[in-house]
Amino acid sequence: MKIAIIGAGLSSATLCQSLKALGTLTIFEKSRGVGGRMATRQGIDAAWDHGAPCFIARDGGFKQFLQPFLADQTLTEWHPKMTTLGLNQKPYKRAWFEPHYVGQPTMNQWIKPLFAGHAVETQCEIESIYGAPGQWFLASVDRAHGPFDWVLSSAPIGQTQTLFADFNFSLTARYQPGFTLLCQMPFSPSWDRAVCQDAVVAEMIRSGRRPGRRPANTLVVHAQDQWASEQIASAPAIVEQTLRCAAEALLNTEFDSAKLHRWRSAKVIEAAATTHWLNPARQLGACGDWGGTQGVESAFLSGKALGEALAKTLITLPK
Ligand SMILES: Cc1cc2nc3c(=O)[nH]c(=O)nc-3n(C[C@H](O)[C@H](O)[C@H](O)COP(=O)(O)OP(=O)(O)OC[C@H]3O[C@@H](n4cnc5c(N)ncnc54)[C@H](O)[C@@H]3O)c2cc1C
Repeated sequence: MKIAIIGAGLSSATLCQSLKALGTLTIFEKSRGVGGRMATRQGIDAAWDHGAPCFIARDGGFKQFLQPFLADQTLTEWHPKMTTLGLNQKPYKRAWFEPHYVGQPTMNQWIKPLFAGHAVETQCEIESIYGAPGQWFLASVDRAHGPFDWVLSSAPIGQTQTLFADFNFSLTARYQPGFTLLCQMPFSPSWDRAVCQDAVVAEMIRSGRRPGRRPANTLVVHAQDQWASEQIASAPAIVEQTLRCAAEALLNTEFDSAKLHRWRSAKVIEAAATTHWLNPARQLGACGDWGGTQGVESAFLSGKALGEALAKTLITLPK
């Protein structure tokens, strides 16, 4: 059984775990590595976790799934020194009320072993799918890949809708877009994470002070959701400048450098009607964080649900 999986985030990694004994898996990922939105950008002597800064685990199955990674310390609890910042306001301390997890030394470190033993084609964006059940081909810019018995997409729902447009994929979900600024600071404040009372800046996180990171004066600035939605079509240079000025004003400093990253689909704000999608007649399926509104945990639950449903289908199909 040959199975193609589009995307290499956590939902895909979870799917790989469920399906590893059932066939040969080939994963196609458009970016340079695995992890998807659990992302760390590397610089010279510095790194920025510019995607999900951390995640929580409330589901018992997800908590159990995380245990080996907490044991080998590629995943750890994050206990940042928190503060609240606002213009002309005195900072005050805030505390977590449940465990928050981070990968170390990078956000995707713990996800890498979940793809071990499978072919992962990175820098390979799938543009379309053609063929028929059992004979699917995936087209990237310069070649066709296949044939595959099954094709499963773990891309955000917009990309999956495009890829499966001809195959009755009718689920919808709504994402919050986001802007993140990757900065170098000239000084080292005493906090690790600052929640901001500001119209433009939502929070700031000191990347170089996170678990397992090399010490550096690196800062990640996340924009407010409402402001990001209003600015999504604006010129990146203007967004970068506005976000930078707002963050510099809150810290009363000037950054050494700042670079903008735009997330068209950052977090799900309205989930799809089902956790996953499986069409046994066409031999197609889909999963992703769009199955819920709990971010990383929803990605896990969706990948697991699709894996279990597909495993059940494969076992009952006539040989
Ligand atoms: C700024 C930010 C902050 C966040 N904060 C939190 C938080 O605090 N807590 C939390 O739980 N979650 C948070 N999230 C959300 C969390 O990161 C996601 O919910 C989760 O990582 C999604 O996993 P996934 O596998 O569904 O999708 P992804 O991680 O997006 O993986 C999908 C993969 O598919 C690839 N892909 C897409 N199209 C194609 C194609 N055509 N061909 C090949 N590959 C393709 C993408 O490159 C990507 O690697 C945040 C996200 C962002 C961006």
